[in-house]
Amino acid sequence: MPKLETIDKLAILADAAKYDASCASSGAGGRTSRGGRGVGATDGAGICHAYTPDGRCVSLLKILMTNYCMFDCAYCVNRISSNVRRARFTVEEVVALTLDFYKRNYIEGLFLSSGIIRSPDYTMGELVRIAQRLRCDHDFRGYIHLKTIPDADPALLDEAGLYADRLSINIELANADALSQLAPEKSLPAIRKSMGRLRLKIEDAKGERAKSRKAPRYAPSGQSTQMIVGADSARDIDIVGTSALLYANYSLKRVYYSAFSPIPDSSAALPLKAPPLMREHRLYQADWLLRYYGFTVDEIATGAQGGMLDLALDPKTTWALANRALFPVDVNRAPYEMLIRIPGLGVRAAQRIVATRRFHRLRLADLSRLTTSIRKMTPFICAADWRPGALTDEADLAARLKPPARQLDLFAV
Ligand code: SF4
Repeated sequence: MPKLETIDKLAILADAAKYDASCASSGAGGRTSRGGRGVGATDGAGICHAYTPDGRCVSLLKILMTNYCMFDCAYCVNRISSNVRRARFTVEEVVALTLDFYKRNYIEGLFLSSGIIRSPDYTMGELVRIAQRLRCDHDFRGYIHLKTIPDADPALLDEAGLYADRLSINIELANADALSQLAPEKSLPAIRKSMGRLRLKIEDAKGERAKSRKAPRYAPSGQSTQMIVGADSARDIDIVGTSALLYANYSLKRVYYSAFSPIPDSSAALPLKAPPLMREHRLYQADWLLRYYGFTVDEIATGAQGGMLDLALDPKTTWALANRALFPVDVNRAPYEMLIRIPGLGVRAAQRIVATRRFHRLRLADLSRLTTSIRKMTPFICAADWRPGALTDEADLAARLKPPARQLDLFAV
């Protein structure tokens, strides 16, 4: 095989990393010249943006160390039986690329994953060596997110957390049977065991740091995971239920949902079409309801047809329509916990309402200054000068809240 240039490896291994949703990807565009190789060009070079726990947006070099893999997960384009162009970075190449991009101010950190070569231990060892060299040999202070391999020696996972800000282990599918059918080399109990171990390590390190600032940091941005949506028969409610358990049992910072993309020469066990992207979006909305709005899985399931979230309406609105007796909510009196259940009202706007109503009774005009989704809220609220009256028939309201079907472009061919 001809020797690949670093830029060719980068093109292959950044493209191979795009299926990982664990840091939201949005390539920087608009500055590309000479086929993506001009000065300052970042297209195709695997630069994506992610959000840190304090809300800052950071650009990351998102790559695989290699897309060779000895495993044969049916849903993965990098599986051993897949006919894709392969490449592999050495430890030194990843370190040099990261430092180079960092010094040029293209990136603020590294998101590194890998196919499995030789053995889980060997691969994890190489990933740890990259992070260790960046931190210890080059004093790299940027963000590092390492995707870990659950079957690797626990000592390697322990070491990874000393250098990485965030560690993640992909759970892949909500259903254990589907996982053993589509990814026979992976095991849900092994994944969960590694997540449990990470949780303990992270909590222990936090406890030690609370006692002494000299105690070593361990994955200070916590752990996350990813689930593929639409590759198996798992319903949305199964996926949301799995996420709720993962958050509760392993203190995950995030569960990412990645809509399955059909891949060339795929197994007959996989669907031929990708699920609608809106499904992924609805799952993220349900996930936020779990984490920030106090909803339970059963409440999110209210109104879900056959266990699937409504694609036309967001899950909070679906729940509100199924619980019309709880509305309208008086924005001048309702507790915060009820305010955040009003469709269209976010956490920050609800906090502003609570702070403002201490001084005067809120009218519709006041609310429109505090939130941008007043039109969506009005059927569900009372204010000093507003009652929704008879506008609350459930079927009619659902029809009015659904976004209009997109008009066909008459000039499209
Ligand atoms: S182990 Fe990872 S890279 Fe390898 S086939 Fe499975 S999902 Fe793909």
